[in-house]
Amino acid sequence: MSTLEIRGVRHRYAGATADTLHDVSIAVGDGQMVSVIGPSGSGKSTVLRVAAGLETARAGQVLVDGVDMDGRPTERRDLTMMFQAPLLFDHLDVAGNVAFAPRLSGATRREARLCAERYLRLVDLEGMGGRRVGSLSGGQQQRVALARALAAERGALLLDEPFSSLDRELRTSMHDLLDEVRAAIEPTILLVTHDLDEAALADSSVVLIDGRVHQQAPMSEIYRRPATLATARLVGGFGEVHGVVSNGVHRSAWGAIPVADGCPATGAAVLLLRRETVTLGEPDDGSAGIQARVTRRRAAGTREIVTATGEDGSDVELELDMGSGLVVGSPVTLRLHDERTPAWALSVPVEVGNDREVPRPPSRQDDPLHRPAL
Ligand code: ADP
Repeated sequence: MSTLEIRGVRHRYAGATADTLHDVSIAVGDGQMVSVIGPSGSGKSTVLRVAAGLETARAGQVLVDGVDMDGRPTERRDLTMMFQAPLLFDHLDVAGNVAFAPRLSGATRREARLCAERYLRLVDLEGMGGRRVGSLSGGQQQRVALARALAAERGALLLDEPFSSLDRELRTSMHDLLDEVRAAIEPTILLVTHDLDEAALADSSVVLIDGRVHQQAPMSEIYRRPATLATARLVGGFGEVHGVVSNGVHRSAWGAIPVADGCPATGAAVLLLRRETVTLGEPDDGSAGIQARVTRRRAAGTREIVTATGEDGSDVELELDMGSGLVVGSPVTLRLHDERTPAWALSVPVEVGNDREVPRPPSRQDDPLHRPAL
């Protein structure tokens, strides 16, 4: 296929008073898959709509294999888009749906049929070409939609929450299928999703919050080293402890905790502790541990996620075996599970008090993730 590059795109909907996308740049290499994650209303679908030419950007470019798509209508862009709803043609059978794009681009009836058979085989629907689309299950219809998008054989594929209407089991089987398709034909894919596990199928993920790119990195990196506090809150599972970083050490009511190499924080900073690294009990090194109180408990399969709030107001999450016996209000002593796992910290703005600078806890009001979606 091709490379896809979205470069410095700014977009505002007609009648709106503010931009929806601010200088958004995303690069997808040939045969790569990039996912876009972000809260509802952050502009994820708008990115795809601009790329597809369904919306016109105020600034920026969309390039497929280096060719600027500016001014081209959707059908003349070297891209195909697939949506959450399969949007199949009811009056055509399954093969007719898949053969539609090849026919439009001039393939003979026989060539288009052969092409449809090839892509139906790829999505595990071999022999189903003669079926009416209405007789298929939701999962099968989405497979047909994927085959149809692939059969267009365009430079890149834009997938807008393509599996979000399917139940968990079907979604997992579509993820396996996507892996197989990628291994077989290496399509270039830009995928919008709110499912973080789905996002992790991609080579890298773009975090889009309030129309701005906060980070582009593999999901495993985003989980370990979020670039912004909003990103950490989006992916979840981080405790936030306020303090000050100097010389690679974060100091707070939690004591002195080394931060990871490459950590950008200096001065007032929030320490981000992944819940896997926090546990109950006195520290091994004889220091006091942090006294906290359970403020929230929720079940997660065979585990439970407990939020404990320290005396300094820091909320930290822990993941424990179900049946810990803790209830909201229980006093707990927390320690770092594995002090060899360096923590991550991000600088935060400070308010200047009467005689000292105090770290300002980020306000949930200011946080786009906690604002109601529009
Ligand atoms: P996401 O896909 O991340 O949920 P969208 O791209 O759908 O976000 O929307 C981003 C923002 O643009 C939202 O505030 C939404 O209300 C607004 N928006 C989306 N479509 C339109 C439209 N056709 N006209 C005006 N505003 C729109």
